[in-house]
Amino acid sequence: MNVIMKFGGTSVADAEAMNRVIAIVRRQWADNPSDRPPVVVVSAMSKVTDRLVETARLAGDRQGAHAAQIVDELRARHLSAASTLVQGEALEALGAQLTSDFNALAADVRRWADEGEVTPAAADRIQAAGELASSRIVAAAFRQQGVDAAWIDSRDVLVTDAEHSAAIPDMEATAERCRTIVAARTAAGQVPVMGGFIGATASGVTTTLGRGGSDYSAAIFGACLDVDEIQIWTDVDGMLTADPRVVSSPVLVPELSFAEASELAYFGAKVLHPSTILPAVAKNIPVRILNSRRPDVKGTMITANGRGGGSTLTALACKRGVTVIDITSTRMLMAFGFLRRLFEVFERFKTPVDVVTTSEVSVSVTVDNPRRLDDIIGNLRNFAEVSVERDMAIVCIVGENLRSDPTLFARAVTSLEKIPLRLVSQAASRRNITFVLRDGDVVQAMNRLHDQFFGAKVGA
Ligand code: ADP
Ligand code: ASP
Ligand code: MG
Repeated sequence: MNVIMKFGGTSVADAEAMNRVIAIVRRQWADNPSDRPPVVVVSAMSKVTDRLVETARLAGDRQGAHAAQIVDELRARHLSAASTLVQGEALEALGAQLTSDFNALAADVRRWADEGEVTPAAADRIQAAGELASSRIVAAAFRQQGVDAAWIDSRDVLVTDAEHSAAIPDMEATAERCRTIVAARTAAGQVPVMGGFIGATASGVTTTLGRGGSDYSAAIFGACLDVDEIQIWTDVDGMLTADPRVVSSPVLVPELSFAEASELAYFGAKVLHPSTILPAVAKNIPVRILNSRRPDVKGTMITANGRGGGSTLTALACKRGVTVIDITSTRMLMAFGFLRRLFEVFERFKTPVDVVTTSEVSVSVTVDNPRRLDDIIGNLRNFAEVSVERDMAIVCIVGENLRSDPTLFARAVTSLEKIPLRLVSQAASRRNITFVLRDGDVVQAMNRLHDQFFGAKVGA
């Protein structure tokens, strides 16, 4: 079985974690000796991207010295991991490379701070440093341990548009590069090691896919390389019945359909980047979520059909800190063309809308990205009355069974008793129902739903 194996930030957090990665990859290959070597994709070491985002912010605020200080700290952290994992001449070469990369970044950051501007392209250059460094260390560590690994600069492979911080892949161009650059390595018996999250435009300008995007990179490469399985190795056992930070004892979901996984990821199950499933669906490649600290746990298998059968929901998800906008037509009721005008405003400001409900006179929508909210409201007010409610949340119940069993919806509503519901919406697919409520009620709502459907102890 040919696989791509993606390891997230906590799975490459330090030298010890990287050693676990190497052991996991070795075992995968040893268990399937006649296959092509696995392709490895890694995230930045944990929290590094957060620090790089902070670096960019400081540089934009003209705080060059402080920004460069963070880069220095990051250089030290990476050199420390490198020196634990790699020795001799290989360490010299790796250390020199990391030092030169981080020093160049510090110089760039100081320059941008002097200019007082970090463009979106510059911000992507800064953020790319995390995945570039972690992937170089992991590749060298593999070689140190006798595995013939080849570091590949993902920016030579993942071709994207120029939408910085949310770049969209050009699948055809990327597939071509995968064949010529990545498959050439596996054909030669080498394990390719690449950074996730980053790519470049056709003319070579560095881009990123958005936070959490390494999962997406793995799925893109996996689809382009026609692998048999995309493995997402992380710090939990798999997709759980709810976010463990919100519900006290969620349980593992052993199997999911692509459609269920997409809904859960979109509505807040951070364990998968919401775009991850798309390339997998296009090629019908199973995605498996696994725990790098407990590699023997079976994890979650995501396939076209999912588990089938069963009599309950599959899982819950929640998205916090969303804003509800109520828009009422100032002309007669729902005037002709009203919806088009309304959604054009969101399109103009590149702001996706998550939940939509309509009544005869008004439309309510939720958005989770408040960046352009003032512009959006200003524009909507040209033709509608608008009211805005912040600090709201979306709670989403997901399951293929929602389609066939109407009692599930009734049970959900009953269990939410007395929690004020602001909006309720059932997707056309009928595989999810979303409730919009106050953010302050989320923990209670999620725990009550979880208790109702999965019988866990209520912890909040
Ligand atoms: P990685 O760095 O490996 O990509 P992430 O932090 O992006 O890991 O995603 C894993 C985290 O997702 C978990 O630690 C957990 O807190 C969170 N999470 C949220 N919802 C879920 C869910 N339904 N199932 C599993 N994990 C979830
Ligand atoms: N390092 C990136 C982030 O923290 C991408 C990822 O981890 O998937 O968002
Ligand atoms: Mg992630």
